[in-house]
Amino acid sequence: MASRKPLIAGNWKMFKTCPEAETTSRQLVERVGDVSSVDIMIAPPFTALAVVSKAIEGSSMELGAQNLYWEKEGAFTGEVSAPMIASAGCRYVIIGHSERRQFFGETDAGVNKKIQAAFEASLIPVVCVGETEPERDSGKTFSVLDKQIQEGLKDLNLNTSNPPVIAYEPVWAIGTGKTAQPEQAQEAHAYIRKLISQGFGDELASAIRILYGGSVKPGNIAELMALPDIDGALVGGASLKPETFSEIIHYRT
Ligand code: PEP
Repeated sequence: MASRKPLIAGNWKMFKTCPEAETTSRQLVERVGDVSSVDIMIAPPFTALAVVSKAIEGSSMELGAQNLYWEKEGAFTGEVSAPMIASAGCRYVIIGHSERRQFFGETDAGVNKKIQAAFEASLIPVVCVGETEPERDSGKTFSVLDKQIQEGLKDLNLNTSNPPVIAYEPVWAIGTGKTAQPEQAQEAHAYIRKLISQGFGDELASAIRILYGGSVKPGNIAELMALPDIDGALVGGASLKPETFSEIIHYRT
């Protein structure tokens, strides 16, 4: 089995002004220190990318954006393209977060175009998938994952030298304080890896990192990371505070 370097990613959502983002990221750099055993990403709002990029320069942390639009440029008021994000210093971009699907009508077809655009700009897409509570309760978790993975990754030329990252985020666990039981998370992650293997082969399936997201905190990260198919975490609320996010990053110690 390929060894996959864990990725701990923070999604700041629509929080933090530029001065707040600068203070938080400077404090994070101090608290996190030199880390080489895990990759770390923070995704502030677009407006704070420049200040955070400067604050984390030379540190163990890398920058991510929370969304993109698939066209490179044009008359698309309010949108931001993949080359723009890359030029702001981002290495990663979150795509298809459930809040974008839920509140902004994002579809799997749109997610597919965004992933393609991210690759063209040499960004690593962090592709979010996951079922809602009614979908889980009615036994549709796997069929939801089938559709999101198959349509989201449709016709993409994926390879092991630069695989996308998948984030399994059960919608009922995001920002609710409810975390999936370890066995529920492992089952979903193993299922996603099987889908990747069926669609793109075993080599990609064993190289791809699948993050868990949904109320991850210092108290549950170690248990989640001990599971064989969990390769990191996408952290919302707990990434906003340097104390909690750095504790999550240092989950091994
Ligand atoms: C998220 O925003 O992707 C997330 C998982 O949020 P939280 O950690 O707050 O549940």
